[in-house]
Amino acid sequence: MMTPYTEEHLMPETARCCGRIEVICGSMFSGKTEELIRRLKRAKFARQRVLIFKPSIDTRYSSDDVVSHDSNSIASTPVATSEDILRRGLEMDVVGIDEAQFLDDGLPRVCNALANAGVRVIVAGLDMDFRGQPFGPMPALCAIADEVSKVHAICVRCGRLAAFSHRKVDNERQVLIGETAEYEPLCRTCYNKVAARPAPISLFDEGDGKATSSTTPHTQNNDIPRRPDNDGTQKNYL
Ligand code: ZN
Repeated sequence: MMTPYTEEHLMPETARCCGRIEVICGSMFSGKTEELIRRLKRAKFARQRVLIFKPSIDTRYSSDDVVSHDSNSIASTPVATSEDILRRGLEMDVVGIDEAQFLDDGLPRVCNALANAGVRVIVAGLDMDFRGQPFGPMPALCAIADEVSKVHAICVRCGRLAAFSHRKVDNERQVLIGETAEYEPLCRTCYNKVAARPAPISLFDEGDGKATSSTTPHTQNNDIPRRPDNDGTQKNYL
């Protein structure tokens, strides 16, 4: 049986210089993968050992390529768990991880271990799911990263910067692999307009005060006092 790696295993004897964690996050169609590929190709030009991983759950385009929306691609290794990345990544100078939101909660520990061992780790992923809630290990990765780049799409309804991935089809599962038929990038204002569903009859049980519905977008909170706008509509003020 293989001994699991720990941070103690990797430091300080095997520590190399220049280990770091970079996170590229944003909504769908924001160019996360393009930016990941750009950084990885530059590392390859510098003759560094580069390996790219992606969760095996994401098979939208190809089972063994990281492929972006503009068909710019780079060979990658599908993995089922974050532990698989640690074992192979330790031999690399640069490790890229795409669609990191689909990987398990062990990913931040794996990225820390790789960076502590001198590996440059570049992680790309969705920061929010279609409800506008933090997605998988991405919030923790942003917290421990040396550098976070938040990239934006363009809102398809008004042309402003978009940070939200609106799901156009009626499906409540958090993970629904999809493309432009299923998702569209929206700014906060447009997202709140289209993602708002009819309010449940009662958001809270009168008895225990616990929420009984999670269908309202995370950006909206019915508990927050509202005041009428000049145009007569109601908006939240945080
Ligand atoms: Zn908009």
